[in-house]
Amino acid sequence: MQEFSRLYIGGEWTVPSSDERIEVVNAFSEEVMGRVPAGGAADVDRAVAAARAAFAGWSATPLDERLGALGRIAEGIMARNDELARSVVGEVGTPSMIAPMFQTGLAAVVFGDNATLAPEIEMEATVGGTLTVKEPIGVVGAITPWNFPLVQIAVKVAPALAMGCTVIVKPSEYAPLTAFMLAEIVHEAGVPPGVFNLVSGAGPSAGEALVAHPDVDMVSFTGSTATGRRISAVAASTVKKVTLELGGKSPLIVLDGAPLADAVAAAVQGCYINCGQMCTASTRLLVPETQRDEAAAAATAIAESLAVGDPAAPDTVVGPLVNARQRDRVREYIQSGIDEGATLVTGGVEPPDGLERGYFIRPTVFADVTMDMRIAREEIFGPVLSILTYTDTDDAVRIANDTDYGLAAMVFGEPDEAMAVARRLRAGWLVVNGADQSFTAPYGGYKQSGLGKELGVAGLEEYLEQKAIHV
Ligand code: NDP
Repeated sequence: MQEFSRLYIGGEWTVPSSDERIEVVNAFSEEVMGRVPAGGAADVDRAVAAARAAFAGWSATPLDERLGALGRIAEGIMARNDELARSVVGEVGTPSMIAPMFQTGLAAVVFGDNATLAPEIEMEATVGGTLTVKEPIGVVGAITPWNFPLVQIAVKVAPALAMGCTVIVKPSEYAPLTAFMLAEIVHEAGVPPGVFNLVSGAGPSAGEALVAHPDVDMVSFTGSTATGRRISAVAASTVKKVTLELGGKSPLIVLDGAPLADAVAAAVQGCYINCGQMCTASTRLLVPETQRDEAAAAATAIAESLAVGDPAAPDTVVGPLVNARQRDRVREYIQSGIDEGATLVTGGVEPPDGLERGYFIRPTVFADVTMDMRIAREEIFGPVLSILTYTDTDDAVRIANDTDYGLAAMVFGEPDEAMAVARRLRAGWLVVNGADQSFTAPYGGYKQSGLGKELGVAGLEEYLEQKAIHV
């Protein structure tokens, strides 16, 4: 049992304003595995005051000292990587095969990358005789989801601290434990009091208090599009900057003549990783009409071969979903696909054989999906792949872009042709022929997938204001 009874505010573990606790449930055993405080507006007030008080000193701290702290945080994460990964395996259900790298090791990489990239930013320049000066934006509220709980915090806290901002983190109530371990690591790293603060609590109370707070200069949010809309509306009353990393419904286009087996394998892997609880999941597989049967058979063969089970077991590829609410939501989507006339080629609403306990969903593949179906339009956040067909390349591009989202897209095909298609897609993160992805490239969605960028130099610059001094 991981128990945290205090909130990290002003460099100290402080007693929360109420005795209320949030129970953290293990996604596989369904048992309570931890407890954290259910913080509220009074705790947020204290955290914002601490962050405000620390801002003058931290923003004036030399860059290399700030970046030194980032480096020590990265080392601290790696020193506790196994423990952090075990926590995420329990909270989220991510298989232990990938958790130490994608869930926790990646957070250390993010702190390291931000330390490397920050000196590249030109803080001052002269434009036509006018001096332009970039400055840290101030006090930042970081609100994060449960699917990659530590990484999502890292991609906000690392650039904010690098640029001289101070931060209050409000982690997801469903997976808050690694945020508490990170606070311990930040403390050990010698980050001055008030620079990093942690207030756990529910979104509508602690989260919304942070967004509405007049002394918070910026809110960086990752989560669902519905919550992103609410946050934008609440933040508008104090006209603060908001960055949003929201949902997706990403297409993977297999162009005519592309190696179908490789492309389908990439689509299935990209759709089922973290049990589909990934915003860039390739959930719409677009194939030429003539390849519908072959694609469905290939996807089914892979889906049925995957080891589904205890995420702590070393060979498990697909673990449970995070909680019962999410499992029920995904089941409802699978039922809607059946009701709306898609062909269920494998998977379905029943739990996998022998896995009645744990929030499991069978790896599911639908064929004959069309863009008027909910499973093609709405983010499912579970292991559900939809296969759609197209007539020619223009039709593929039209279908791929026919979505409210614009987070990511993948293309397989002859390199020049695939590149040309990638340029036509209205999305922020494109992957051609399964290329390796760089975490120093700017990441962020078009349309209702978000506003602003994370990662890379662009991600750092979100935490800056710019002034012009005319002399
Ligand atoms: P939610 O939008 O439900 O929650 C995200 C965070 O916002 C949580 O910390 C939540 O608190 C908080 N929150 C909820 N309501 C409010 C409010 N009114 N004011 C302030 N904060 C609030 O998302 P999930 O946690 O369910 O995450 C899944 C979603 O996140 C998916 O839709 C996914 O696509 C998206 N996502 C997007 C990513 C991207 O980079 N584009 C990456 C990862 C996920 P609470 O603790 O109560 O839940």
